[in-house]
Amino acid sequence: MPNLSSEKLEIARIIESKQEMCWKISDAIWSYAELGLEEYRSSKLLADTLEGAGFTVDRGVAGMPTAFVATFSHGTGGPVIGFLAEYDALPMLSQKAGHVKHNPVVPGAPGHGCGHNTMAAMQLLAVISLQQVMLKEGLNGTLKFFGSPAEEMLVSRPYMVRAGLFKDVEAVIDCHAWDEFSVAYGMEGAGLYSFVVHFKGQTAHSGSTPWKGRSATDAVELMHAGTERMREHLPVTHRIHWITLEGGEAPNVVPDRASTWYFIRDLDENLEGNYRWVMDCAKGAALMTQTTWDVKFLTAIHQRFGNKALAELIYENIKAIGKPKYTEQEEAFAKEMQEQNGYPVKGLEYEMKLGSPESRPFRAGSSDVGDVTLIAPTATIRYPAKVPGSPSHHWTVTSSARTSFAHKGITAGAKVAVFTAYDLMTRPELLTKIRAEFETLKKERPYRSFLPEDASPPIGWNTELMEKYRNKMEPFYLEP
Ligand SMILES: [Zn+2]
Repeated sequence: MPNLSSEKLEIARIIESKQEMCWKISDAIWSYAELGLEEYRSSKLLADTLEGAGFTVDRGVAGMPTAFVATFSHGTGGPVIGFLAEYDALPMLSQKAGHVKHNPVVPGAPGHGCGHNTMAAMQLLAVISLQQVMLKEGLNGTLKFFGSPAEEMLVSRPYMVRAGLFKDVEAVIDCHAWDEFSVAYGMEGAGLYSFVVHFKGQTAHSGSTPWKGRSATDAVELMHAGTERMREHLPVTHRIHWITLEGGEAPNVVPDRASTWYFIRDLDENLEGNYRWVMDCAKGAALMTQTTWDVKFLTAIHQRFGNKALAELIYENIKAIGKPKYTEQEEAFAKEMQEQNGYPVKGLEYEMKLGSPESRPFRAGSSDVGDVTLIAPTATIRYPAKVPGSPSHHWTVTSSARTSFAHKGITAGAKVAVFTAYDLMTRPELLTKIRAEFETLKKERPYRSFLPEDASPPIGWNTELMEKYRNKMEPFYLEP
């Protein structure tokens, strides 16, 4: 790291002295592979570790048992810097670490196919290192570690924002496991509504007295048919997809209950209109089938608007740190993974870049970080922890998320986070610039939650699925 000041070189040494502990925590969370809102072990491990380090931990925040905020304050307590950490896994992506062919630890079980285990560890390493730096150098500031469950369901952040947890935060450093070392600013991704429509009808014998029944499943099918016809007339940026959650249990009983789970995605300004039209499809379907209906929201989130000044600062630190040095074995693992799975064989070659809205195509993925970007200036450090070419939400990511190569990504990402926060604490003019840019965004897009007032986090959504696998996974749990 030839581009670093002597202070930052010393800080890097502090980070390296704590990395091993955080790598182990990353691996343990990888082995728990807990689904959204079921991250009891993962969140406890993180919260306990932070509490042990002297952070004040508020558990079960915003109505979610696995959400928490850990705070450390020093001196005057300002600036207040937030760190977003995720730790939920994905269904069906169980995979043995470091294997280049599909080989689950427990077939069918969840796995860390988005690398969120490394993200929790990266932010943990960042804040405990910063805490030591602040104490040592007598720096003023407050660190807030936001333990954010269920990112894969896009659930926690809008509820955490609604609970006022980000109220005093002046800048937010977010992160994601990636196949490059980068940061981006400006509008990204799509806003999203996630909700379930339930229809209620009347059971009857489908053979002898079908006229006495009213089919809720018919209503679901008609609603889908209606929504399908909307597509032609929606903005090209829209995405609408659904799954039938419940659609009857036997053909000889007219189903009196059926439900469908929708994701509606689009630019923020189009979402409400699209949603109202989908509701018309639900109404129409109920009318046609003489059933009744209601809707329950799981979540509703905004697009992301990354802060440019903060992203530029992060990018300076990415360049100063540079890529981690990889061993021959790590390079060989990446190449083998690429070769076996049909990705371009280039080993651990990846870009270090500052992305802008002009430099990337519109992608309609979503993240609940969006709401945070509208509440405080935010940027996301994308650090290398996936083999280049391997797609997100895939077992190949589970495989690499517990390797020495991912560990190096954790440390590299943590260094960027720590150096960036250190810069904000020691060079107030940087924060002034970041805040000024944010004030402009706030005027353009004043924050209003998309959540209906009566929405609440869908606690228990994944309980049954998690219970199905927890016992089988337990023998493979790793000690932190
Ligand atoms: Zn993710």
